[in-house]
Amino acid sequence: MSSADLVVLGAGPAGLAAAWRAARSGRSVTVLERAPVIGGMAGSFEVAGVRVDHGSHRLHPATSPRLLADLHDLLGDDLQLRRRHGRLHVGDVWVGFPLAAAELAQRIPRRMLVGMAVDAATAPARRRPSPPANYADALTRGLGPTLYRALYAPFALKLWGLPGERIDAEQARRRVTADTPWKIAARIVRRRGNGQGRLFHYPRRGFGQIVEALAQAASDAGVRIALGTAAEQLVPGADRVRVRLGDGRSIEAGQVFSTVPLPTLAKIVTPGPPERALAGAAQLRFRAMVLVYLVVDRRQRWTPYDAHYLPDADTPVTRVSEPANYRANLDDPADRTVLCAELPCALDDEVWSASDHDLAARVCDDLARTGLPAIRPSAVVTRRLRHVYPVYDVGFRTRLEELDAWAAALRRITTFGRLGLFAHDNTHHAMEMAYDAVDALDTGGSVDQAAWSAARARFATHVVED
Ligand SMILES: Cc1cc2nc3c(=O)[nH]c(=O)nc-3n(C[C@H](O)[C@H](O)[C@H](O)COP(=O)(O)OP(=O)(O)OC[C@H]3O[C@@H](n4cnc5c(N)ncnc54)[C@H](O)[C@@H]3O)c2cc1C
Repeated sequence: MSSADLVVLGAGPAGLAAAWRAARSGRSVTVLERAPVIGGMAGSFEVAGVRVDHGSHRLHPATSPRLLADLHDLLGDDLQLRRRHGRLHVGDVWVGFPLAAAELAQRIPRRMLVGMAVDAATAPARRRPSPPANYADALTRGLGPTLYRALYAPFALKLWGLPGERIDAEQARRRVTADTPWKIAARIVRRRGNGQGRLFHYPRRGFGQIVEALAQAASDAGVRIALGTAAEQLVPGADRVRVRLGDGRSIEAGQVFSTVPLPTLAKIVTPGPPERALAGAAQLRFRAMVLVYLVVDRRQRWTPYDAHYLPDADTPVTRVSEPANYRANLDDPADRTVLCAELPCALDDEVWSASDHDLAARVCDDLARTGLPAIRPSAVVTRRLRHVYPVYDVGFRTRLEELDAWAAALRRITTFGRLGLFAHDNTHHAMEMAYDAVDALDTGGSVDQAAWSAARARFATHVVED
């Protein structure tokens, strides 16, 4: 463990993809993962014999051909192509999601349909030359007030804990793929094409099979993966970085790739960022999430849908998924199913600290009120994630830019991944960053700054798929 060409912090998809690619190019690589298991947010685990994910996870068709080809090589036929089959709660009704024109016309409340039609017709009048002031302004200008108020405003409050007026417009650009009525209409009408929004890739044994296959391939290529091992301190030098571990040992690294949260990196590098950037780092916030897994003993699935999306303001649940419906897997038990409810929250609120019993009762009651089949769970399991959604509150940009400028100037340390760049990105984005970081390494083992800057410019155009 005492030296390596490359030390990677974090064994999520970004860290593992980087480690595998770097090892394939002949480098010695050590991965340090604080948790006792690999995978980060993209890992899977078992609840009552059913493989489940950390909330609803899909590999989107936007995944680049080079990455998809590698994943097909690793997973073979286990990487299935599936059709999305979800539902969205609009007003008092459930509509299919992705949206279908005929169903929308029949089921959406008339008042809302008329509002949407008026908003579409008046879209040109809402255009302004000035940049939008915030998330609410961006989406009200683009989509119109009807859809914004019914869906996007309540979702924003639940996901990020802030009203749309206090969220930066950048959040709208990064999170909303169809940001005008016409783009939504085009998505509804376009049933063929590359499958964007309608199809997804998913492994037979859960989303975590991707990171498990990456970890296996990385190990086979010689990567050492140290679990339960956090990097406590990084001291960059002229030609090495000293990585100090919790037990006092250290590793000399030619290069460090960090996929840990950017504010965490600011705390462990010595010397740290200037006072101002450090103060800014302390104000960069992440939303946390409680995942509530409900085991339901029954011979059929709870519903035939993969996920139900709930913008409703009167429940903290944003989505409930049924993992067995994401795949065709004969190994899934026939006499039970597991549901997973996602509850975004803050570390100091009542959702985060509620007991498992209270959380389960709340989820069951709230879902029953929306007309979904009653749930009588035989067991409840919860998971609590501290760093889930980066919060782009108004003013975040300056704080992030200062911290990012400090991180970019670090010698032999490069940060990327969803938490490492404080971005909302998908798994395929995180893995793509990893590939680009390895490709930017020069023969001396340092990152070529011009190549990395070009890659960063590409990452800035990422738009998250839900
Ligand atoms: C509810 C939910 C739904 C999602 N749905 C989708 C989806 O449908 N499709 C999709 O593509 N993506 C989805 N994502 C996003 C996806 O999970 C992430 O994009 C992906 O996991 C990011 O990978 P990463 O390696 O950058 O970060 P992570 O997965 O967060 O991995 C970072 C790793 O670093 C480790 N770490 C932290 N600090 C230290 C330290 N000091 N030392 C060592 N290790 C450390 C952590 O333990 C973790 O394992 C979803 C995420 C959530 C929360």
